[in-house]
Amino acid sequence: MKIMKFGGTSVGNPDRIRALIPLISDNEEKIVVLSAMSGTTNKLVEIAELLYADNINAASLKIDSLSSNYYQVVEDLYSTNEYKALGHEMIDSHIEYIRNFTLRVFTKLQEKAILSVGELISTSLFHLLLQERNIESALLPALSFMRVDKDGEPDAFYIKENLSRELENYKKEKIIITQGFICRNAYGEIDNLKRGGSDFSASLIGAGANAREIQIWTDINGFHNNDPRYVEHTSVIRQLSFDEAAELAYFGAKILHPSSVNPARENNIPVRLKNTMEPDDEGTLITSESDQLDYKAVAAKDGISVLRIRSDRMLMAYGFLRKVFEIFEAYRTPIDMITTSEISVSITIDNSDFIDQIAKDLRDLGSVEIEQNQSIICIVGDFRTERTGSAPEIFEALNTIPLKMVSYGGSPHSLSLLIDTSRKTEALRLLSKHLFN
Ligand code: ASP
Ligand code: MG
Repeated sequence: MKIMKFGGTSVGNPDRIRALIPLISDNEEKIVVLSAMSGTTNKLVEIAELLYADNINAASLKIDSLSSNYYQVVEDLYSTNEYKALGHEMIDSHIEYIRNFTLRVFTKLQEKAILSVGELISTSLFHLLLQERNIESALLPALSFMRVDKDGEPDAFYIKENLSRELENYKKEKIIITQGFICRNAYGEIDNLKRGGSDFSASLIGAGANAREIQIWTDINGFHNNDPRYVEHTSVIRQLSFDEAAELAYFGAKILHPSSVNPARENNIPVRLKNTMEPDDEGTLITSESDQLDYKAVAAKDGISVLRIRSDRMLMAYGFLRKVFEIFEAYRTPIDMITTSEISVSITIDNSDFIDQIAKDLRDLGSVEIEQNQSIICIVGDFRTERTGSAPEIFEALNTIPLKMVSYGGSPHSLSLLIDTSRKTEALRLLSKHLFN
């Protein structure tokens, strides 16, 4: 059994949807996890925003335009009138469902219901296409097994139990199609795994079904050793360990949702990143092994704020950092990087929703300085502490760029730096030039 997850661009238009058929037509049992067609979830978010603002007319216009886009998809995707009619019927029922929300008070609950429609449509479109082509498959609703707990974290036990039970009903089918992204919450309401969460779905499903491999299909050949949006001549990394992949995904490489590494790692299931446009390329394989290259990849994460707390009370004191961390905990704000001296501590966060409240509370402990528009540059490679030479090489490469924080020794496979976002592209290029060429 393998999992094959196809992202929004891989189902982005009728041609792309048809192109999936040869990819899933080997004889292995598989669960195909689909995202919404690219652009759809954004449109659904816009509709929800208009409904929050009680702008019913504008929302209705957007719903109309979504409906006519999907009518065109249906016209193009199917070749028989019978399946065009079935497709239109399916779209009508989903559009009707969205339209109902224009008639009542709009809450978070309704928003999540609307956001689920993109994946419900894409999976139905694909299932109908396979039926039209006489390819046997089953459509398994993610809402019958995918679930998060009260904290919004996946309920691995529930997922495994329910997925196994559901799969018992589809013993004959080699191809099982299900939705990424959507789930139920602890109260049984429709919810989701947050934007980009379909990768996470695929990984949770792979763990729940004890898959041999989890494949994430996108429109790029895998993880690159630097960000191709800013740097020329990047190359694909063929092999990564789970830890390395988690660092890269978290620190900016957009190709994989960072949370999706965990379920795979815990169950030791390889993750393979593949390109739907170049299916013969082997892509990137993520396993428990690392091939210990000095430098594997560089990634950057923007939108970082740094808080610098300075206090004489920290001098030779214990318990000071606990007080600092408790403040971040109270505002449920995760910390990314931290460096300390004897009387000061610098902390970075990427969620600045509560930054003012956090700074206010921190001022009870000492003076606080905030700097925004920062980027974390993460270099993934072999940074075991008994080795020598890699840190100097990195500093030498970046000797024209002010380094605001350095985190070294926290992990054996990464070194992170904080710089001004305005210098990011330059830093990425310098690192590429010095470390990879
Ligand atoms: N459709 C969802 C989104 O656009 C989930 C995903 O594609 O991963 O965020
Ligand atoms: Mg994605």
